[in-house]
Amino acid sequence: MAKRNKKRQSRKPPYPVYVRFPGKLLIIGFGSIGQGVLPLILRHIGIDRKNISIITADPTGRGVARKEGIRFRIKAVTSENYEKVLRSRIGPGDFLLNLSVDVSSLDLIQFCHKHDILYLDTCIEPWFGGYSDPSLTISQRSNYGLRENALALKKTSMGKATSVVAHGANPGIVSHFVKQALLNIAKKIGYKVKKPQNRKEWAALMRKLSVRTIHIAEYDSQVASTPKKIGRFENTWSVNGFHSEGINQPSEMGWGTHEKHWPKGARRHDFGCGAAIYLERPGAKVLVRTWTPQHGHFLGRAVTHNESISIADYFSLKQKDETVYRPTVHYAYRSCDASLLSLEECLGNNNVLQPEQRILLEEIESGMDELGVLLMGHKKGAYWYGSQLTIEETRKLAPYQNATGLQVTAGVLGGMVWAIEHPREGIVEADEIDFERIMKIITPYMGKMTGAFTDWTPLKRDGALFGDDADVGDPWQFKNFLYS
Ligand code: NAD
Repeated sequence: MAKRNKKRQSRKPPYPVYVRFPGKLLIIGFGSIGQGVLPLILRHIGIDRKNISIITADPTGRGVARKEGIRFRIKAVTSENYEKVLRSRIGPGDFLLNLSVDVSSLDLIQFCHKHDILYLDTCIEPWFGGYSDPSLTISQRSNYGLRENALALKKTSMGKATSVVAHGANPGIVSHFVKQALLNIAKKIGYKVKKPQNRKEWAALMRKLSVRTIHIAEYDSQVASTPKKIGRFENTWSVNGFHSEGINQPSEMGWGTHEKHWPKGARRHDFGCGAAIYLERPGAKVLVRTWTPQHGHFLGRAVTHNESISIADYFSLKQKDETVYRPTVHYAYRSCDASLLSLEECLGNNNVLQPEQRILLEEIESGMDELGVLLMGHKKGAYWYGSQLTIEETRKLAPYQNATGLQVTAGVLGGMVWAIEHPREGIVEADEIDFERIMKIITPYMGKMTGAFTDWTPLKRDGALFGDDADVGDPWQFKNFLYS
């Protein structure tokens, strides 16, 4: 093994090592994101590969772990066994990277705080059933509810080991894109702004620029060489994850203070920060008009995501107890072709997940993941800022992943580096992290970073033969939704 490792290391181009980490790293879950992030960790974090181990519920990724010389153990982590499983593997000064589905972020974070262990995940995940148990209320199953639980724990976490929550692509790096986009818009408009130093100053800048609505606008055009197989859910990242957020959870959106039109079937939660509302339908059934520079305008889905809530909350301005400014924020996701067909098949079968599942990788023939933030309502109309990453570039940049995966794994790497550099911050959301540090780490993996102004609005409907509500009124109000 030692000989093989030496050979592997001698083939490495000179990648920058951002930080050294002498502790152990335990990765829980080794699906598309776990496999993709491993080579980035080995390149950019100074860690001995003997100190890394993986624990996961199925054999997926065993070959990658073997090839990279990393310990791999199959064992499902549950609410009954997690303390025992973790205690025997990690302790003070170590790092727990949660890249699984169905393993509770909050229980793991509490364990990490108790034992002084750094932590990062890419979404605030509940134990199995947390998204689908019919005895739970919609609020309890929502990302708003999961985030509120994390915020309650955050209050008790000051000075404890850093736990970065929800730091992948989205949620994750899109929060940093928003800040860079604000500075870019300000420059274009000719506002002389000093870089904001805290939450209040960032929110004040967003309000000053009159940003009303933000879409996390993503178009995934990656296509496989083989057509989607009937009875199989195909996607470019976790099928279970997408089924949970797109079909089991409600559609959710950060709710702007400018909104005057209350959407059909919308509800407020009766607890927490109040930054978001939900619809009594899943995001897979809520179509929304949006725009990206490469693709132009298209229909995405308002699938719930943590960042829709955290960004809206972070950029809220309060006077006494009243929120005087908050943008509307939601995801507008056009998943890959095979995934759209898979969704249609699943919805048609009363939302039951297909028996077979596949994350597309080698079979992808072409395409790009175009992922960015579309800030609307300011003087220049709308501005999209984000990553245009093709599958061809991805394959040149890093092994074991598609374009969607690399946008996420770069975010995981950035968050890990930041956590190691700031080890005593307690629970931290992406919006609270130094965006420039993360942008520096992720940019080499983003393909082309593009900023594009446009006069597009959700009301732009050339040649429409049928009118609907959205044909009248203020384009930045929440009228651009179509319920299917
Ligand atoms: P995946 O479905 O490919 O893999 C999930 C992994 O979790 C598998 O290795 C599985 O064995 C493991 N797992 C399941 N139950 C487990 C248990 N009880 N104990 C231990 N391991 C268990 O998922 P993925 O695409 O790698 O995504 C991983 C996580 O990242 C998911 O929660 C997903 O929602 C999230 N994600 C976030 C972003 C983002 O941008 N923030 C993007 C993609 C995925």
